[in-house]
This record gives sequence, structure tokens and C-alpha cells, in this order.
Amino acid sequence: MPSGRSRFAPFLLAPLAAACLASCPEPSPSPAPAVETPRAAAFVFDAARAWRDLEKQVGFGPRPAGSAALDATRAWLEAELRAAGLAPRREPFRAPTPRGEVDFANIYADLPPRSGDTQAPLLILVSHFDTKRMDFPFVGANDAGSSTATLLELARAISTAGPREIALRFLFVDGEEAVRPQWVDPDNRYGSKHHAAQLKVRGERERTKAVIVLDMCGDRDLRFHRDSYSTAWMTELVFAAARREGLAAHIDGPRDAIADDHLSFLELGIPALDLIDFTYGPDNSWWHTHEDTLDKCSEQSLGLTARIVLAALPDLEARLASKR
Ligand SMILES: [Zn+2]
Repeated sequence: MPSGRSRFAPFLLAPLAAACLASCPEPSPSPAPAVETPRAAAFVFDAARAWRDLEKQVGFGPRPAGSAALDATRAWLEAELRAAGLAPRREPFRAPTPRGEVDFANIYADLPPRSGDTQAPLLILVSHFDTKRMDFPFVGANDAGSSTATLLELARAISTAGPREIALRFLFVDGEEAVRPQWVDPDNRYGSKHHAAQLKVRGERERTKAVIVLDMCGDRDLRFHRDSYSTAWMTELVFAAARREGLAAHIDGPRDAIADDHLSFLELGIPALDLIDFTYGPDNSWWHTHEDTLDKCSEQSLGLTARIVLAALPDLEARLASKR
């Protein structure tokens, strides 16, 4: 472990600061809202536990789609979501790949809104949990252990804080990685494409108002790219929230067009953001290599990612609720 990996204490977000728009004035020193609102709820994200969840996944070994190790990872994720009081659902499907038919299965857990309204606007937070099939033991600490661990702890943190004005879905998708060495459509995003199609089948497409994909967020040198496929207002909203949190150093990285799970939702016209640091090692040279190991990642980066998402949540929520 590098010396930089110190224990990162759970943090509380200052709710009023998080709720402000970019131009809002300094929060008053002792905000005392008369009524407890969802925005005033404090989130407790335990980065140390997220790090242990990352270690756990690496311990399963390489986890490509269709493997026993991915089955074990899936069962563990479901058990953790259940332990958090959520009700995970499995979304199995079979799809043709360059290696023949493969059995895939996504997992998702919903946090219904306070109102109980089954048609409430839905925000989906996504991570893939498969690793790329390689001809060497690829353990994928950053890709996709880091985002899976962060999303799992976000599910705990957000659900513990209680139901919100909008509905949230924590979605773990299978088969993001291309089965072939190169990323050539349609050999990629198997799980997110299936889930997006199921949104239509289940009549959830219209209420799905936004999607945030987390990917490669464990790099100990964390800086999220500015992905040009992502929906512009979502990028600006989330980056503004990060700046307010004092995390400007971790956003506004290189501008790139990054093909990732968010494309599956953008293709349906759903606003989507890919929160990804696609510079992993010098010139991204650790990506999809034997270098993608725990020592290149940090607990702190998992916590920073969560802070950005949690800081943006009240603004996102306000925007999505107003668009009903
Ligand atoms: Zn990958």
C-alpha cells in the first residue's frame, strides 16, 4: 500500500451549502431550518468501508461476464444491499457475444420517494461490476472495482438518510466490457443496453429523468474528465457542486468523447453523465493492464467521488422534480 492511503474519515455534507446554486452567498453560520427537509439530511459515506468493498472484489479475482467469480461478486453485492435494508432485484438475460451466448445479470435496488408515488421522477446511479476478459489475471481494482464499491456505499449512505423527493435506483450492470480485445459495437455495454430496453418494457422510460455513471473513480490521482457525450447541463451541475465542495482539483480534466454505459441511456434520450477519470497512470497506461491493482487506487478517491455525487444530489433532485 502506498503511504498516501490513510484512513479517510466518514464525512458530513453541509446540507445548505450543498443545496445552494453556484452563485449563492456564503451560508449563514448557523442555519436553522424550521422543518427538516430532504436537503437538510446529512449523508454519512464511510470511505473505509468502501475501500474494504473494493478489496473484497479484487479478492474474487478476474470477474468477466459469465464467470463463476462474477456470480460470486453478484451474490455478495445482493447480500450487502439486503443488509443495507434495500431489496435488490436481479435482471438476468442471455445475449450473443463473439464467444457465443453468455448469461448476464444486472442487479438493481430502488429507493422509493417519500410520497410513495410510483410515477415519481427517477434518477439512476450506475456502475458496471464486470471486469474485462484478458489473457492474464486482470483483477480490475479501478475498472470496475472502484465504482462498484463507491456505488454500494452510496446506496447505504443515501438509503440510510431516508427516502427523498424523487426515486433513486442503484444499478450494477453486467457486461460493460467488450468481449473482444477492442471496443467495437455492438460488443460492449450488454447490461446497460438491456436495462435501458427494460425501462421501456416496464413503462419506466418516461419517469427516468437522469443517469449518472461512475467508472474508474478509484485512481489515487483523481481527476474526472469532461466527456463530450455526456449531457451538458448534467456536467455543469455536477461540476458546480464539486467546486462548491472545494473539489475543483478533481474535475474538469481533459475533454474526451468516452464510450461508456451512459451511451445506452443517451440513446433513449435520457440525460446522462459519465463520471470517469480516464487518465489512469501515465497516458492512461494502467487501464486494462496488469497494473490495475489496489496500490494504484486510494480510499480517499472513493470518498471524493461520493462527495461530488452527494453534493450534486439536492440540485439534481430539485431540477428533476420540477420537470414532472
Ligand atoms: Zn474497462
